[in-house]
Amino acid sequence: MFFDLIVVGGGAAGFFSAITSAETSDKSVLILEKTSQLLQKVKISGGGRCNVTHACFEPRELSGHYPRGQKSLIGPFNRFGASDTVDWFSARGVRLKTEDDGRMFPESNTSDTIVKALLGAAGAAGVKINTNEGVTSIAKDGDVFQLTTDTGLSYTARKVLLATGGTRSSSGAMLAASFGHELLPATPSLFTFNIDDQRLDDLAGVSVPDAEVRIHASKLKSHGPVLITHWGLSGPGILKISAWGARELAEREYRFEITVNWLPNHDPAAALSAKRQSEGKRQLWSRSPFDEIPKRLWLSLLAAAAVAESTTWAELGKKQSNALVGQLANCRFTVDGKSTNKAEFVTCGGVARDEINFQTMESKLVEGLYFAGEMIDVDGVTGGFNFQNAWTNGFLAGTDIAGR
Ligand SMILES: Cc1cc2nc3c(=O)[nH]c(=O)nc-3n(C[C@H](O)[C@H](O)[C@H](O)COP(=O)(O)OP(=O)(O)OC[C@H]3O[C@@H](n4cnc5c(N)ncnc54)[C@H](O)[C@@H]3O)c2cc1C
Repeated sequence: MFFDLIVVGGGAAGFFSAITSAETSDKSVLILEKTSQLLQKVKISGGGRCNVTHACFEPRELSGHYPRGQKSLIGPFNRFGASDTVDWFSARGVRLKTEDDGRMFPESNTSDTIVKALLGAAGAAGVKINTNEGVTSIAKDGDVFQLTTDTGLSYTARKVLLATGGTRSSSGAMLAASFGHELLPATPSLFTFNIDDQRLDDLAGVSVPDAEVRIHASKLKSHGPVLITHWGLSGPGILKISAWGARELAEREYRFEITVNWLPNHDPAAALSAKRQSEGKRQLWSRSPFDEIPKRLWLSLLAAAAVAESTTWAELGKKQSNALVGQLANCRFTVDGKSTNKAEFVTCGGVARDEINFQTMESKLVEGLYFAGEMIDVDGVTGGFNFQNAWTNGFLAGTDIAGR
């Protein structure tokens, strides 16, 4: 069977490439998906709501959210950025809404809307889709590619696009390697920190809206909401630093020291001294003096600073005050391991960026071979950036293939 384009992988990037190519040309397009489920990650993404993109409409600023791929993506985002994603879905009847933190979801609040839109667009454009058919080998034969699948069938295609997802356990990585492409080691990104520390005991669910996290013996630092979990620390502030440090922290086998400043926008020493003047008779344990620090965390930090329950602000001595400032602004923890973030995770690593032409997503090694999505050594922080990369890659590849 012959197709102008065969897309390997029925995920976000594969669908977007196939739809773009089929909608803008009369080329025949086939998607081969090895599992029984199409767009499976879109379905489970964003806790079932699908964080489609991020309200960040300036290409250079948008590309700043990608620990790997930052420079390579500036050009692509100029051609298909977050506003194009919004328009693309809107033109197909899906309106997106923006949450306070910039994440964009379908107004319906369910990923089904996105899955339906993609399936509908693919159907309307005449894209053929085979599930339960994994590609096992691809070879170039003159101007065309010969593909073999695990069903024993063979296909011929003028162009092939690999969109097989993260390369940790993907057979797609083997396909890319079979053409001589370099694969950077697959390493988890967007993970949470395991910390066994008395100060966090019984505080699961407590969060601080804007903390600063620093990793010792490293330049890594991030800002953002931090959430205390049963295992340690999570939330965007932690996920962000895990992404930027994905390789470095893997090399350190996920054992390192961090410092959390729970109040990066305050001068805690000055705030404590003001309290001594204004609320001298009040006991420190009665309430948290900072809106950002929930009472349960405040009590835990007071205990860690050895401030007795009955102490009033007037009685707070210099030593205790210093210890408390340390807990508030310089709170050290030992990280011993990582956990998977359930809302979103990606793989850092994949096909080397310098072997791909980011204007077209075509391989620089093999004419007619294209890449899109997570199988490339590009990954973003949490917030809709990983899907945006998939849409952008898919659009560029699909457009180039349609135009040839
Ligand atoms: C739980 C979770 C939640 C997430 N939530 C979000 C979110 O809200 N927002 C966001 O931006 N990102 C999110 N992400 C990340 C995002 O899902 C991925 O970055 C994105 O799905 C990558 O798309 P892709 O098409 O490149 O790969 P995938 O979606 O992984 O699709 C690849 C497809 O290729 C198929 N395949 C593999 N090998 C073969 C083969 N040899 N032959 C045929 N088919 C093959 C696979 O079965 C799969 O269906 C989330 C990730 C997870 C795990």
